Amino acid sequence: MDYRVLLYYNYTKIEDPEVFAKEHFAFCRDLGIKGRILVAPEGINGTLSGTKEATDQYMEKMLKDDRFKDTYFKIDESEGHAFKKLFVRPRSELVALHLEEDVNPRQLTGNYLEPQAFREALLDEETVVIDARNDYEYDLGHFRGAIRPEIHNFRELPEWIRENKEQFMDKKIVTYCTGGIRCEKFSGWLLREGFEDVAQLHGGIAAYGKDEATRGELWDGKMYVFDERISVEINQVDKQVIGKEWFDGTPCERYINCSNPECNRQILVSEENEEKYLGACSIACAKHPNNRYVKTHHLTVEERDARLALTNQ
Ligand SMILES: [Zn+2]
Repeated sequence: MDYRVLLYYNYTKIEDPEVFAKEHFAFCRDLGIKGRILVAPEGINGTLSGTKEATDQYMEKMLKDDRFKDTYFKIDESEGHAFKKLFVRPRSELVALHLEEDVNPRQLTGNYLEPQAFREALLDEETVVIDARNDYEYDLGHFRGAIRPEIHNFRELPEWIRENKEQFMDKKIVTYCTGGIRCEKFSGWLLREGFEDVAQLHGGIAAYGKDEATRGELWDGKMYVFDERISVEINQVDKQVIGKEWFDGTPCERYINCSNPECNRQILVSEENEEKYLGACSIACAKHPNNRYVKTHHLTVEERDARLALTNQ
């Protein structure tokens, strides 16, 4: 465990994101850091990996900079890099909510709940807890009793809330996401929409899982992450598996991408079924002429079809 994965964001003014991104890339590259860092006029959002020394130097430099001095870094120990490459990209916004009028979280955002207060909110019947992530993230793991908005992507969330307003109008609302960045905007937007009692989990699920008092309690499944680890454990108290295997519905937490490069759908699949279905989400995808599994395993068409015949489909 000589490596670390850092997750952080900071809504702060960055004058020239393009120039900043170039310089920041060189700084990270020299430290041997890998990962994905987005830079926008409204701030910075990064998830990166490096040695202990490199990540220490990274955080030290960031915290010395006035713009980033109050950054909250979520730190995971790791056995190696969690990324293959380094990207530092300028963007027009950090979080794509596609609002007609943007929200500046420095001016308007929900109250911050620390993990222990958040756990109490989870148990409070007058409080509605909304998962502010994408559906596939929810399906691998989420807080017990949290609402799963019927959306595929985070940017559809505002519209879904408007359509379901009556459910939430007189309740306390608490939102959460992976590291907190999406909720900064989303909770601000909820306040602007007229919801009065809005809070957010400070530091997101990542911070909750690290908290010594909660130790991830009331979290079910695993947390989806946007790096090569794909998922990480959160609950150290009473862990339950909630992910379901794509083909047979048995408990499963193993994500693969469909081996049809034109599909690439992310599915939870057991090792056994990966072999049976040639790493694909369907027979049609397994038979796709560019199927990756067939290529890497050097299967002939006859071998492929013989294996698929065993699925009885
Ligand atoms: Zn597929």
